[in-house]
Amino acid sequence: MTPAELAQALKEQARQLGFTLAGITSPDPPMHYESYQRWVQAGFHGEMAYLADERALERRADPRRILPECRSILVVGMPYHPPLDPRPKGSLPRGRVAAYAVGVDYHLVIPPRLQQLVEFLEAQTGQSIPNRYYTDTGPLLERDLAQRAGLGWIGKNTCLISPKSGSYFLLGEILLGLELPADRPFVSDHCGTCTRCIEACPTGCIRPDRTLDARQCISYLTIENKGDIPLELRPKLGEWVFGCDICQMVCPWNRRFGQHEVDSVFQPRAGLPFPVIAEELSLTPQAFNRKFKDSPLKRTKRRGYQRNLAVAAANSGEKSLQPILEAASQSHDEPLVSRHANWAAKNLKK
Ligand code: SF4
Repeated sequence: MTPAELAQALKEQARQLGFTLAGITSPDPPMHYESYQRWVQAGFHGEMAYLADERALERRADPRRILPECRSILVVGMPYHPPLDPRPKGSLPRGRVAAYAVGVDYHLVIPPRLQQLVEFLEAQTGQSIPNRYYTDTGPLLERDLAQRAGLGWIGKNTCLISPKSGSYFLLGEILLGLELPADRPFVSDHCGTCTRCIEACPTGCIRPDRTLDARQCISYLTIENKGDIPLELRPKLGEWVFGCDICQMVCPWNRRFGQHEVDSVFQPRAGLPFPVIAEELSLTPQAFNRKFKDSPLKRTKRRGYQRNLAVAAANSGEKSLQPILEAASQSHDEPLVSRHANWAAKNLKK
């Protein structure tokens, strides 16, 4: 097989494994590194210290610092279910979970398939190939690499947008110690004069330079932020109890490509994406662990999830939640949840 044939076969194999997007780029330093560096220096990454770690910064600047033998990088995208709407009928107040998180954690799905792709290449070439693979877990500017591998452009909402399928997909990358021909970078910007995502974001966290202030992003506030949610931002969280899809939901590129084939492992688990607030606020540690086994929701732990539910309860304006908020305020085993429940109980009364 020629390198071009091997690259083609690899991308075809990726598609068979559920990666509807696949492209190859070089391990050259990423184009957006300086912008990333400025973003970190300005503190927009909030408490995500791993993004500003000195060693990780060096590695982000050049993929060859991760794998010195790297000769090419395969970038893949796996679709997930677009947000479901409308919410279930009935009067029970509900929160909302971001679309990527309704099924099994993609960190459990994507890496084994990336490993299968490495094995495919090794079988085809008959040699052992140095490699490293990641799905948002490594010090890589993955959207930068995806753009350079021809998968799409980085939208004003900071998501990678494919002109064929929108932005509801998850990225993975394999650094390969094997020379493969690179695809043509995606150079056009299809956002044009549109600013829907910027206008729709309730906290105004999207900045004009295609970065966002993570400290105000609902995804960050409900997932990565481990402490109290700033008082002034709580009302802006609305119904979101884990992540947020607003800047993607309003994007015309996602409206155009509403449906796509999604791997069955990403089927929403029972009760998601609109969990019943009262039920979830009552989950014991054991029940939470059982309910969210292998789910991305484990990331916030029960305390973070119930903190978010308390805020969503206040934002729902549903007076029926008053007793459960007062009970949580007085006797929840997690002080973080008690504090938010206390605030929520007072704000529901207003
Ligand atoms: Fe670009 Fe408009 Fe989509 Fe924002 S909503 S990412 S500006 S196309």
